[in-house]
Amino acid sequence: MNNSKGEREQERKRLIDSLISNGYLSKPEVIDSMLKVPRHRFVPESKKYSAYVDMPLTIGYGQTISAPHMVAMMTEHLDVKPHHKILEVGAGSGYQAAVLAEILDEGKIYTVERIPELAKNAEENLRGCGYSKVHIAIGEGTKGYAEESPYDRIIVTAGAPRVPKALLDQLNDNGKLLIPVGGRMLQELMLIEKYEKGFKEKKLGGCVFVPLIGKDGW
Ligand code: SAM
Repeated sequence: MNNSKGEREQERKRLIDSLISNGYLSKPEVIDSMLKVPRHRFVPESKKYSAYVDMPLTIGYGQTISAPHMVAMMTEHLDVKPHHKILEVGAGSGYQAAVLAEILDEGKIYTVERIPELAKNAEENLRGCGYSKVHIAIGEGTKGYAEESPYDRIIVTAGAPRVPKALLDQLNDNGKLLIPVGGRMLQELMLIEKYEKGFKEKKLGGCVFVPLIGKDGW
Protein backbone atom coordinates (compact mmCIF):
# COMPACT_ATOMS: atom_id res chain seq x y z
CA MET A 1 0.00 0.00 0.00
CA ASN A 2 1.23 3.47 -0.86
CA ASN A 3 1.14 5.81 2.09
CA SER A 4 3.17 8.93 1.52
CA LYS A 5 1.50 12.23 0.61
CA GLY A 6 3.43 12.40 -2.66
CA GLU A 7 2.42 8.87 -3.66
CA ARG A 8 -1.25 9.59 -2.90
CA GLU A 9 -1.07 12.77 -4.99
CA GLN A 10 0.40 10.77 -7.88
CA GLU A 11 -2.36 8.15 -7.59
CA ARG A 12 -4.96 10.93 -7.56
CA LYS A 13 -3.40 12.59 -10.61
CA ARG A 14 -3.41 9.26 -12.50
CA LEU A 15 -7.09 8.75 -11.64
CA ILE A 16 -8.06 12.27 -12.77
CA ASP A 17 -6.03 11.88 -15.99
CA SER A 18 -7.95 8.68 -16.74
CA LEU A 19 -11.30 10.39 -16.03
CA ILE A 20 -10.28 13.14 -18.49
CA SER A 21 -9.21 10.71 -21.19
CA ASN A 22 -12.40 8.66 -20.72
CA GLY A 23 -14.50 11.79 -21.27
CA TYR A 24 -15.91 12.19 -17.75
CA LEU A 25 -14.06 15.40 -16.94
CA SER A 26 -13.41 18.49 -19.03
CA LYS A 27 -14.27 21.63 -17.06
CA PRO A 28 -11.09 23.16 -15.62
CA GLU A 29 -12.73 24.06 -12.28
CA VAL A 30 -13.97 20.48 -11.77
CA ILE A 31 -10.60 18.98 -12.74
CA ASP A 32 -8.90 21.36 -10.34
CA SER A 33 -11.32 20.48 -7.56
CA MET A 34 -10.95 16.71 -7.98
CA LEU A 35 -7.18 17.07 -8.05
CA LYS A 36 -7.33 18.88 -4.71
CA VAL A 37 -9.81 16.83 -2.67
CA PRO A 38 -8.03 13.96 -0.87
CA ARG A 39 -10.53 11.10 -1.44
CA HIS A 40 -8.50 8.83 0.86
CA ARG A 41 -9.50 11.09 3.80
CA PHE A 42 -13.20 10.32 3.10
CA VAL A 43 -13.05 6.51 3.08
CA PRO A 44 -12.69 4.07 6.01
CA GLU A 45 -9.14 3.08 7.03
CA SER A 46 -9.60 -0.43 5.55
CA LYS A 47 -10.47 1.04 2.11
CA LYS A 48 -7.71 3.63 1.80
CA TYR A 49 -5.67 1.45 -0.54
CA SER A 50 -8.57 1.64 -3.07
CA ALA A 51 -9.30 5.36 -2.65
CA TYR A 52 -7.89 6.20 -6.10
CA VAL A 53 -9.47 3.31 -7.99
CA ASP A 54 -12.54 4.34 -10.01
CA MET A 55 -15.15 2.45 -8.00
CA PRO A 56 -17.70 3.04 -5.24
CA LEU A 57 -16.54 1.95 -1.77
CA THR A 58 -18.54 0.95 1.30
CA ILE A 59 -18.59 3.50 4.13
CA GLY A 60 -20.68 1.53 6.65
CA TYR A 61 -24.44 1.38 7.46
CA GLY A 62 -25.05 -0.20 4.02
CA GLN A 63 -24.00 3.01 2.23
CA THR A 64 -21.29 3.95 -0.28
CA ILE A 65 -19.07 6.78 -1.43
CA SER A 66 -19.83 7.08 -5.17
CA ALA A 67 -17.26 6.14 -7.82
CA PRO A 68 -15.03 9.06 -8.89
CA HIS A 69 -16.39 9.01 -12.47
CA MET A 70 -19.94 9.50 -11.10
CA VAL A 71 -18.81 12.39 -8.87
CA ALA A 72 -17.01 13.89 -11.90
CA MET A 73 -20.08 13.54 -14.17
CA MET A 74 -22.50 14.92 -11.61
CA THR A 75 -20.27 17.86 -10.73
CA GLU A 76 -19.79 18.73 -14.42
CA HIS A 77 -23.55 18.57 -15.13
CA LEU A 78 -24.42 20.61 -12.04
CA ASP A 79 -22.59 23.57 -13.60
CA VAL A 80 -21.63 25.21 -10.30
CA LYS A 81 -20.64 28.88 -10.11
CA PRO A 82 -18.55 30.28 -7.24
CA HIS A 83 -21.49 32.22 -5.69
CA HIS A 84 -24.01 29.36 -5.70
CA LYS A 85 -26.00 28.13 -2.74
CA ILE A 86 -26.20 24.35 -3.07
CA LEU A 87 -28.24 21.64 -1.38
CA GLU A 88 -27.00 18.06 -1.38
CA VAL A 89 -29.26 15.20 -0.27
CA GLY A 90 -27.15 12.28 1.00
CA ALA A 91 -23.93 13.53 2.62
CA GLY A 92 -22.52 9.98 2.96
CA SER A 93 -18.79 10.46 3.45
CA GLY A 94 -18.82 14.20 2.63
CA TYR A 95 -16.62 13.71 -0.46
CA GLN A 96 -19.08 15.05 -3.08
CA ALA A 97 -19.73 18.10 -0.88
CA ALA A 98 -15.97 18.71 -0.64
CA VAL A 99 -15.62 18.54 -4.45
CA LEU A 100 -18.40 21.13 -4.79
CA ALA A 101 -16.95 23.30 -2.00
CA GLU A 102 -13.64 23.60 -3.88
CA ILE A 103 -15.50 25.36 -6.73
CA LEU A 104 -17.23 27.87 -4.46
CA ASP A 105 -16.05 31.28 -3.42
CA GLU A 106 -18.79 33.16 -1.52
CA GLY A 107 -21.26 30.27 -2.07
CA LYS A 108 -22.31 27.66 0.50
CA ILE A 109 -23.38 24.02 0.63
CA TYR A 110 -25.98 22.45 2.87
CA THR A 111 -25.95 18.67 2.92
CA VAL A 112 -28.63 16.53 4.54
CA GLU A 113 -27.96 12.98 5.74
CA ARG A 114 -30.54 10.68 7.36
CA ILE A 115 -28.08 8.39 9.21
CA PRO A 116 -26.73 10.33 12.23
CA GLU A 117 -23.49 8.28 12.45
CA LEU A 118 -22.68 9.04 8.80
CA ALA A 119 -23.51 12.72 9.27
CA LYS A 120 -21.05 12.83 12.19
CA ASN A 121 -18.42 11.01 10.16
CA ALA A 122 -18.91 13.35 7.16
CA GLU A 123 -18.59 16.33 9.49
CA GLU A 124 -15.29 14.97 10.86
CA ASN A 125 -13.97 14.25 7.35
CA LEU A 126 -14.89 17.72 6.08
CA ARG A 127 -13.62 19.60 9.14
CA GLY A 128 -10.44 17.51 9.14
CA CYS A 129 -9.75 18.70 5.59
CA GLY A 130 -10.73 22.31 6.34
CA TYR A 131 -14.02 22.52 4.36
CA SER A 132 -15.84 25.19 6.35
CA LYS A 133 -18.35 26.15 3.61
CA VAL A 134 -20.21 22.84 4.05
CA HIS A 135 -23.02 22.68 6.62
CA ILE A 136 -24.34 19.24 7.55
CA ALA A 137 -27.85 18.57 8.80
CA ILE A 138 -29.30 15.28 10.02
CA GLY A 139 -32.70 14.74 8.46
CA GLU A 140 -35.01 13.39 5.81
CA GLY A 141 -33.72 14.93 2.61
CA THR A 142 -36.75 14.21 0.41
CA LYS A 143 -38.24 17.20 2.26
CA GLY A 144 -35.23 19.25 1.20
CA TYR A 145 -33.90 21.76 3.71
CA ALA A 146 -36.42 24.59 3.76
CA GLU A 147 -34.48 26.65 6.33
CA GLU A 148 -31.93 27.79 3.73
CA SER A 149 -33.99 27.58 0.52
CA PRO A 150 -34.13 28.55 -2.30
CA TYR A 151 -31.06 26.90 -3.83
CA ASP A 152 -29.25 27.57 -7.09
CA ARG A 153 -28.35 23.91 -7.36
CA ILE A 154 -29.67 20.70 -5.76
CA ILE A 155 -27.88 17.37 -6.07
CA VAL A 156 -29.36 14.11 -4.83
CA THR A 157 -26.84 11.30 -4.39
CA ALA A 158 -29.30 8.45 -3.74
CA GLY A 159 -31.75 6.80 -6.17
CA ALA A 160 -35.36 8.02 -5.99
CA PRO A 161 -38.57 6.41 -7.33
CA ARG A 162 -39.78 9.92 -8.34
CA VAL A 163 -38.66 13.54 -8.05
CA PRO A 164 -39.62 14.84 -4.58
CA LYS A 165 -41.87 17.90 -4.93
CA ALA A 166 -40.17 19.71 -2.03
CA LEU A 167 -36.91 19.75 -3.98
CA LEU A 168 -38.59 21.37 -7.01
CA ASP A 169 -40.21 23.92 -4.70
CA GLN A 170 -36.87 24.78 -3.06
CA LEU A 171 -35.12 25.44 -6.37
CA ASN A 172 -34.45 29.02 -7.52
CA ASP A 173 -35.65 30.25 -10.92
CA ASN A 174 -32.94 29.19 -13.38
CA GLY A 175 -31.86 26.62 -10.79
CA LYS A 176 -30.81 23.04 -11.61
CA LEU A 177 -31.63 19.77 -9.87
CA LEU A 178 -29.65 16.61 -10.52
CA ILE A 179 -31.24 13.37 -9.32
CA PRO A 180 -31.09 9.63 -10.12
CA VAL A 181 -34.69 8.48 -10.75
CA GLY A 182 -35.95 4.96 -11.44
CA GLY A 183 -36.03 1.53 -9.81
CA ARG A 184 -34.28 0.34 -6.66
CA MET A 185 -31.47 -1.33 -8.64
CA LEU A 186 -31.05 0.96 -11.65
CA GLN A 187 -31.87 4.59 -12.26
CA GLU A 188 -31.57 7.30 -14.89
CA LEU A 189 -29.65 10.45 -14.00
CA MET A 190 -32.04 13.37 -14.58
CA LEU A 191 -31.16 17.06 -14.92
CA ILE A 192 -34.14 19.30 -14.21
CA GLU A 193 -33.95 23.04 -14.91
CA LYS A 194 -36.46 25.45 -13.44
CA TYR A 195 -37.80 28.34 -15.49
CA GLU A 196 -40.40 31.01 -14.71
CA LYS A 197 -42.95 28.98 -16.64
CA GLY A 198 -42.04 25.48 -15.58
CA PHE A 199 -39.38 22.78 -15.75
CA LYS A 200 -37.24 21.27 -18.49
CA GLU A 201 -35.96 17.69 -18.06
CA LYS A 202 -32.97 16.02 -19.62
CA LYS A 203 -31.99 12.33 -19.30
CA LEU A 204 -28.26 11.84 -18.81
CA GLY A 205 -27.95 8.06 -18.82
CA GLY A 206 -28.15 5.05 -16.53
CA CYS A 207 -26.68 4.91 -13.03
CA VAL A 208 -26.80 2.83 -9.86
CA PHE A 209 -27.27 4.47 -6.46
CA VAL A 210 -28.31 3.25 -3.02
CA PRO A 211 -32.01 4.04 -2.40
CA LEU A 212 -33.28 7.42 -1.28
CA ILE A 213 -35.28 6.53 1.81
CA GLY A 214 -38.26 8.54 3.03
CA LYS A 215 -41.66 10.03 2.34
CA ASP A 216 -41.04 10.77 -1.33
CA GLY A 217 -38.42 8.01 -1.63
CA TRP A 218 -38.44 4.25 -1.02
N1 SAM B 1 -22.57 11.94 -1.57
C1 SAM B 1 -22.02 10.88 -0.80
C2 SAM B 1 -20.51 10.91 -0.75
O1 SAM B 1 -19.90 11.79 -1.38
O2 SAM B 1 -19.95 10.07 -0.05
C3 SAM B 1 -22.49 9.51 -1.24
C4 SAM B 1 -23.91 9.32 -0.88
S1 SAM B 1 -24.44 7.66 -0.70
C5 SAM B 1 -24.36 7.03 -2.33
C6 SAM B 1 -26.17 8.00 -0.42
C7 SAM B 1 -26.45 8.63 0.93
O3 SAM B 1 -27.80 9.08 0.94
C8 SAM B 1 -26.31 7.67 2.09
O4 SAM B 1 -25.41 8.18 3.03
C9 SAM B 1 -27.73 7.57 2.66
O5 SAM B 1 -27.78 7.39 4.04
C10 SAM B 1 -28.30 8.91 2.25
N2 SAM B 1 -29.76 8.99 2.18
C11 SAM B 1 -30.65 8.09 1.68
N3 SAM B 1 -31.90 8.57 1.78
C12 SAM B 1 -31.79 9.81 2.35
C13 SAM B 1 -32.74 10.80 2.72
N4 SAM B 1 -34.05 10.67 2.52
N5 SAM B 1 -32.27 11.95 3.29
C14 SAM B 1 -30.95 12.13 3.50
N6 SAM B 1 -30.01 11.22 3.18
C15 SAM B 1 -30.43 10.07 2.61
